[in-house]
Amino acid sequence: MPRPIFDCIVIGTGGFGSAALYHLARRGLKVLGLEQFTPAHQLGSSHGETRIIRQAYFEHPNYVPLLLRGYELFEELEQTSGKKLFEQCGLFLSGPPDGETIQGANLARKLHQIPLETVDASEYADRFPGYKMPEDHSVVFEPVAGFLRVEETVRAHLDEAQEAGATLKFESAVRSWQPEQNQFLVTTDQEEFIARKLLITAGAWASDLLQGINVPLQVRRKVLCWHPVQSASYNLAGGAGCFFFEMPYGLFYGFPSLDGQTLKLAEHTGGNDISHPETLVREELEGDGTSVSNFVTNCLPELSPQSVRQAVCMYTMTPDHHFLIDEHPDHPGLYFGAGFSGHGFKFTSVIGEVFADLISSGKTNLSIDFLSAKRFA
Ligand SMILES: Cc1cc2nc3c(=O)[nH]c(=O)nc-3n(C[C@H](O)[C@H](O)[C@H](O)COP(=O)(O)OP(=O)(O)OC[C@H]3O[C@@H](n4cnc5c(N)ncnc54)[C@H](O)[C@@H]3O)c2cc1C
Repeated sequence: MPRPIFDCIVIGTGGFGSAALYHLARRGLKVLGLEQFTPAHQLGSSHGETRIIRQAYFEHPNYVPLLLRGYELFEELEQTSGKKLFEQCGLFLSGPPDGETIQGANLARKLHQIPLETVDASEYADRFPGYKMPEDHSVVFEPVAGFLRVEETVRAHLDEAQEAGATLKFESAVRSWQPEQNQFLVTTDQEEFIARKLLITAGAWASDLLQGINVPLQVRRKVLCWHPVQSASYNLAGGAGCFFFEMPYGLFYGFPSLDGQTLKLAEHTGGNDISHPETLVREELEGDGTSVSNFVTNCLPELSPQSVRQAVCMYTMTPDHHFLIDEHPDHPGLYFGAGFSGHGFKFTSVIGEVFADLISSGKTNLSIDFLSAKRFA
């Protein structure tokens, strides 16, 4: 029997692969998603309950138009899936007035008219009970920010992709791919597949599958911590939101308490670099969470400084901490998204759409040139 030819095979169905499959399948393309683990698993970079989403993007204002479209697409996904994925609880940023966080957020506000309130120190206690801002900090509040339920979002993209006709194969690790007569032959342990286009969204495993792009990708072990709350100040149900602090000893962020019992927070900086995801230690190591405990003692006085639960996740860093989204220089028709550097999840919906644009027509109206791998040439 002749093998079916797919329009596109997506390798890796985590945050970005699931979103790309959703958009490709809804455009009527014949797509196959291959995933080495199970749907919305806990072994890559898209797990741990929640991910912050915001628009006053201090990392670079060029991301803002992508985020504005991303917000629309998450809303669309909520409607198609009937699931509540986004919680618009707001986010405050606390940092030195001349630091990268406050300066960057204010620049994004100015260039893109993002709603961002400057909060006076006299209002902190009323507006943000349970937090102690350092005296030399400025605080801004972004009301349209909030968080996404990360596993539910991946699952919704996958379910809706399947509903639209995508074929999904789990526990199917891709061992190799090769170009074959203007197509791509993809091999797993069990089967071979053919497609006209290929998309690699393999997260921390990207370097295994992406030769020839000449950009080093560094995998980093990151720890998420859940700490018991000792007052109702942090409860989502009571109106608490997300937070981000630029401290002299690192960047720390967290979420409101979803269950009224614990609150999840983490250090965005720090973490140990590892040679490959296979070498990742998923168990708790001595020293895990120490910097977070120290931060809790300084800034969240109504939270226990001792965590009761931890989870390990991976960042995949590019040299400049900006994403890599491009077509492979040596293989036309092979696209990739990699190196999301610990801040990618909020872009999954829009970058999924960008991939669908590129794969179906070779171009996109969204500005992604600043994310091209060619910037490292
Ligand atoms: C602790 C932590 C906190 C974060 N916080 C935020 C936040 O608040 N806001 C935000 O926007 N972002 C955040 N991020 C970043 C964001 O979560 C990631 O950028 C994003 O989830 C990465 O998605 P991905 O698709 O690249 O990787 P993944 O979701 O890991 O997907 C890659 C998939 O490829 C599969 N795969 C790999 N190799 C193969 C193969 N050979 N064959 C088949 N399948 C394969 C993997 O199994 C995996 O499922 C955070 C990340 C971490 C780790």
